[in-house]
Amino acid sequence: MNKNTDVLVMIPGPTPVVDSIRAEMARPIQAFGDPRFVADYRKLIDDLGVMMHCNGQAFPLAGTGTLAMEMAIANNTKRGDNVLIVSNGFFGDRFIDICERKGLNVDVISAEWGDFVTPAQIEAKLNEKSYALMTVTHVDTATAVVAPIAEIGKVAAKHPETIYVVDGVAAEAAEYTNMEEMNIDVLFTASQKAFGVCSGMFIVWASQRSLERRKTLGTIPEYYVDYEKWLPVMNDTSKYFATPAINLVWAMNESVRIINEEGYEARCEHHSKNAAAMAKAFEAIGFKLLAKEGCRANTLSVLIYPEGVNDAQFRAAMLENGVVCAGALAQYAGKAFRLGHMGNTTKNEMIVALSAMERSLAACGVPVEMGKAVGTYLAEMAK
Ligand SMILES: *Cc1c(COP(=O)(O)O)cnc(C)c1O
Repeated sequence: MNKNTDVLVMIPGPTPVVDSIRAEMARPIQAFGDPRFVADYRKLIDDLGVMMHCNGQAFPLAGTGTLAMEMAIANNTKRGDNVLIVSNGFFGDRFIDICERKGLNVDVISAEWGDFVTPAQIEAKLNEKSYALMTVTHVDTATAVVAPIAEIGKVAAKHPETIYVVDGVAAEAAEYTNMEEMNIDVLFTASQKAFGVCSGMFIVWASQRSLERRKTLGTIPEYYVDYEKWLPVMNDTSKYFATPAINLVWAMNESVRIINEEGYEARCEHHSKNAAAMAKAFEAIGFKLLAKEGCRANTLSVLIYPEGVNDAQFRAAMLENGVVCAGALAQYAGKAFRLGHMGNTTKNEMIVALSAMERSLAACGVPVEMGKAVGTYLAEMAK
């Protein structure tokens, strides 16, 4: 067991947190009514709305991505409504349970793991039946598949009766998203993935159309996630409904500052280039990517082991070499592992991860040329 407490956490969230963000987490507490905090919360809400081109309301609240999923469903559907779940993996499927518990009529279109549901398949479903809402997972963290959310948005535009929900937990701040351009009605993410902040905050962006849908529902059964409970606070951050996550608000402000300093689009492009270079490096030492070419996420990879590698042994060797990676899920458990490469991670951290992979393969008895993956990555990044 590696005794180093500074192991590099390369799982698909939480991602490494840079010093300037950690410093915000360590600041002395302020009252939520303190005028300084009231201004800081105002700034976060406004900046997040601008970042995603949200014509309605951004809600940065305490909770994780899963609570954001509930908030999206709670405010846009009522018992008995038809919903369409577009699933490219484990996190797509999570919506099935959430929706069934609420008493919604659920239809699911699923892709083979590694592939994605096409806009044409979605269009056919939407033409067949009237849906109150549909969900699409921007990047499914079980498969590392990115969905064509802009193309799906064009289909959604032909069905104004259907609220288009995008789960951007493993995508936002690394995969280009523009709610207006893409016709997205509800988008959400969480702090610990590509925003590179500690876990504990989620953001729901609700379009004007979604806010209007909420108004048609009257009193909803859910309390904490009700838009109507939070709208007064979002409009006037000196108001109280439930205690905001003070230090996470500061940490997210610092994250947004870092993103805007790099430039939102430049950050997405840099993630894309990095992911492509990492893919070449993985393949150079015998790994196969689960996600097919053409739908590979910028934010993480699911890597299928070369013949004869034992998952537990490989991941133990990775830890010994200072890198924490994640196991694969469901039918890929034991056959693949997951590596995050999103947020405020650096080229140096990629090199550490790739070097650890080379050494861990060798520890598992696979012949590997040391430096092959690292060299491939650096050559690709230099292009
Ligand atoms: C991580 C993740 C979630 C769940 O978020 P939590 O913060 O763990 O609750 C939902 N959807 C996707 C795509 C994710 O990657």
